[in-house]
Amino acid sequence: MSDTPSPKKVFIIGAGPSGLVALKEMLEAGHDVVCVDAKKQIGGLFSVSYDELYTTTTNMFLAFSDFPPKEGLKYWSKDEYLRYLEDYVDHFGLRRYIKLNTAVKKCALDKHTGHWKILTEAWQSTPGEIRRGSIALSGDILKVVVNHGKRASVVFRKDVAPGYTYDADYLIVASGTNQVPNCPDLPNCNAEVVHSADFTNAEMCIGKKVLVIGNGESASDVAAQSTDVAEKVILFSRRNFDLAPRFISKFLSDGAYNERQILTEQDEHSQSPNDMLEGITNSRILSKLPIALFSIVLDAMLSDVTKLHGEDSAAGILAKIDKANFRKDFYAFDTSAPTKSGGVLAHAVACKGLDIIISPQVDFIEDGKIAHFENVSFMGKDEKNVDAVDVEVDIVILCTGFSINLDWIEVEGSDPIEANPRTWFKHCFPPGLGDKVAFLGFARPAQGGIPQCSELLARYTALLLKGERILPEDYAKQAIKEGQLETETFYSTPNATSLVEFPPFASSVARLIDCEPSVSLISPSRFAKFWMLPQWMCFYRLNGPGANPDACWKVVDTYRIFDSMIPTPVLIVFFLYGTLMQPLMILDYLASFFIDRVSPSSLPRFYKWRFGGHFFQLSGNEMRLKDLVAPSFGFLLINIALVGALKLLLSMELGTTALLVGAAGLLFLSVEKLVRLATGSDIKTQESNELLQSDTS
Ligand SMILES: Cc1cc2nc3c(=O)[nH]c(=O)nc-3n(C[C@H](O)[C@H](O)[C@H](O)COP(=O)(O)OP(=O)(O)OC[C@H]3O[C@@H](n4cnc5c(N)ncnc54)[C@H](O)[C@@H]3O)c2cc1C
Repeated sequence: MSDTPSPKKVFIIGAGPSGLVALKEMLEAGHDVVCVDAKKQIGGLFSVSYDELYTTTTNMFLAFSDFPPKEGLKYWSKDEYLRYLEDYVDHFGLRRYIKLNTAVKKCALDKHTGHWKILTEAWQSTPGEIRRGSIALSGDILKVVVNHGKRASVVFRKDVAPGYTYDADYLIVASGTNQVPNCPDLPNCNAEVVHSADFTNAEMCIGKKVLVIGNGESASDVAAQSTDVAEKVILFSRRNFDLAPRFISKFLSDGAYNERQILTEQDEHSQSPNDMLEGITNSRILSKLPIALFSIVLDAMLSDVTKLHGEDSAAGILAKIDKANFRKDFYAFDTSAPTKSGGVLAHAVACKGLDIIISPQVDFIEDGKIAHFENVSFMGKDEKNVDAVDVEVDIVILCTGFSINLDWIEVEGSDPIEANPRTWFKHCFPPGLGDKVAFLGFARPAQGGIPQCSELLARYTALLLKGERILPEDYAKQAIKEGQLETETFYSTPNATSLVEFPPFASSVARLIDCEPSVSLISPSRFAKFWMLPQWMCFYRLNGPGANPDACWKVVDTYRIFDSMIPTPVLIVFFLYGTLMQPLMILDYLASFFIDRVSPSSLPRFYKWRFGGHFFQLSGNEMRLKDLVAPSFGFLLINIALVGALKLLLSMELGTTALLVGAAGLLFLSVEKLVRLATGSDIKTQESNELLQSDTS
């Protein structure tokens, strides 16, 4: 780390969620900051993506820790999220530091002066067309739409003002992971080919035979939306994949589970945290459960759904797909795979004739408009295996993702920065350059928000630049070790190198900041909510630099304790955790001295059925003794108190019992009330979040 005192000249590339939170944190730390974006609007990817986009994480998981959403818990549409970001920019007075329509062409680090020279260009777009084969993706081509397998319509950048060169001490690259569309070659294809980056709505599919390639959220949305207007839609994936429903309790209770409809009706029916997918994937208590227990509960839930609603219902199809995949790899469940708009896809399969084909590859035959698949399995409704299938195709929509391009960053006398976030410490600080550049937005949780990871990293970067923290001396080495573990864990998606597991990742960065959240047993309901609610960003303001516990509790207190309990036999989990976890985790803690020294490849897959929270140990999170004791100790006490009270009540007469229950309830409410009054967060309604936004600046 350089010893130069603050303020630093910081240059931020990108005004998407990651760039905006970086801008706010850097300004708050007193630095001299400029943030540029090539687009004409803030909001990054969400400002240009398809019309019917609903986020896969809730607003509480997208909102920044010090600016809660105005409304109750929901999945935002892209317009709602953009509005939130606009409000965030205005609330923190960020707008005057942002330059839009300004593309960064080149960043060069002079190793002698330690300064960055950044060449920008103000531009506008102009449409054009070039032939396939002559496409060379240069900085001047903004967008390519390949048509008929031969020609491409292209949008070029056109300069509107001379380039300008900035000088900076520190660079923050928040340019997003969705930079260069991956367009696999489709030899002989004569159908129209479009990348999801160019899919605005299903208009281009009206009356057509559509082939969607991919298995992520975009593929699921694009395929489902196309079924509204297309003659036939087929989704093709090279591998099996899991589906996750956004609304857990509705998925469990309603066989006709129509996720697209529920998304549009969210404002009519308020949601609680236990309705949402994050309740299962990101609650603090569940992230510490051993993967085996997690897997058993999940498998039981899925079995219930197929039994209750039938295999061909929307919910049943989702459960059936997951169970089939799940059984194949029950011993080492890889959570990276689920498509989190899975409910959207399952409903299209159940009710709108969407077919899912799994096959090693697609070939185009005859006139180039027949897609030929071999070794095919149909996934979903009419599951079957066949040797070969031919389908007619008018349009191919590639939902094959994007790749990261960092060619425009040059470090004098050094190799180019490796475009693999798993080689950077915390997916943020590349080896040898931690004091010169931070990458934000390259840590993508399997479930959880990219913006949340970016916020924590931005807070840490601000402290580094102020000289209040230093990077670990061996940060490059740590990055390699953590990256290898991630690659091993997320084995089914080896190319998704930005993937992390949110709970351990967030904890590990919080440890670096020194804002690891903790909560005492003084208020048992807050204690239980802390452990059982998803790990929203506001919890990371309970302690440490920039702490604002009152603001956090004001948000959390709007939810009741039962809202935080997952819709599984939660009391069993609760009791198991309280009574069993502590000895099991201590055993695991001791065993880890031996297991961690053995190469994972020499261990059987099911070694992940360890007692302790497997995922908790990713991202370099060493399991400490207090991690084992603190939560289970708290729950153990609550359990003992509950069991003791129950025993006492059962041994008493009815009248005395009623009296005692009443007195205990009153005492509990008074203590809770006192705690809330003491922390100034006696606010009960969700409408008050609007007030909170103005409170928390
Ligand atoms: C369909 C879909 C749904 C999603 N849903 C969720 C969700 O629910 N939750 C979630 O966390 N994530 C979701 N994501 C991922 C989403 O992309 C990120 O959360 C979010 O966009 C990350 O923000 P960012 O600021 O890091 O990057 P981006 O939003 O991609 O912003 C990067 C910005 O950098 C600018 N830029 C890039 N290069 C340059 C340059 N050279 N010069 C100037 N400017 C440049 C770009 O113009 C862009 O505005 C979803 C993605 C998709 C495709």
